Amino acid sequence: MKLMIPVKRVIDYNVKVRVKSDETGVETANVKMSMNPFDEISVEEAVRMKEAGSADDVIAVSLGVAQCQETIRTALAMGADRGIHVNTDAELEPLAVAKLLKALVEKESPDLVIVGKQAIDDDSNQTGQMLAALLGWSQATFVSELEIGDGVATATREIDGGLETIEVNLPAVVTVDLRLNEPRYASLPNIMKAKKKPIEEMSPDALGVDIAPRMETLKVEEPAQRQAGVIVETTAELVDKLKNEARVI
Ligand code: AMP
Repeated sequence: MKLMIPVKRVIDYNVKVRVKSDETGVETANVKMSMNPFDEISVEEAVRMKEAGSADDVIAVSLGVAQCQETIRTALAMGADRGIHVNTDAELEPLAVAKLLKALVEKESPDLVIVGKQAIDDDSNQTGQMLAALLGWSQATFVSELEIGDGVATATREIDGGLETIEVNLPAVVTVDLRLNEPRYASLPNIMKAKKKPIEEMSPDALGVDIAPRMETLKVEEPAQRQAGVIVETTAELVDKLKNEARVI
């Protein structure tokens, strides 16, 4: 079975994101970038399938600037077999990403595409769903347990009321949630081995995809500053403040 795993390069989740002074976006110069945490979970799941013998080709793909190759290398060090980098300096909206991934799917014919449920930079939660729709494939979203059978995948989904288990036909798009697994750290020998694994490079033009944006960002603002809290001495004081100051009880 062949697996395609899109991995996005995003601002590291430990970094305090700063808005640019001209309010056109967030500061990315000299900021630590890493693989989107949900994509680490997808890579881990794919590598586990490979180790269990149910997958034999795991392709990590990243779309964006030249440094996306570092993100692909991280996936290769975790155990992916090869990489594809679609190189562009353009801002990619989820629809453009989904169209590029569709073109790669048509080229590679994977049985399963495992996508993060959302990228922590744009929080769109759109790419996997759009990709499934463009391909006309089944989709299982927010997956916290995944089992592959004969031509089908059984997926447990995290939904508001609890867990839902569904079966989808392959090929399919799966989007992963946090509880699916705990991603491994790449070992030093595997980081060294990853340097020799192939990464194919291509352009959006070569894939025949129009990546022109459909949205215009008007303004990006910092969230409102939160007021500092007050430590009260007694429960009576707390009740008094809630009643007479906050007026919520
Ligand atoms: P989003 O819809 O933007 O929240 O992203 C959901 C998922 O789509 C991410 O977790 C990635 O798996 C994939 N994805 C989005 N953008 C890219 C990209 N530029 N390169 C590779 N994968 C991406």
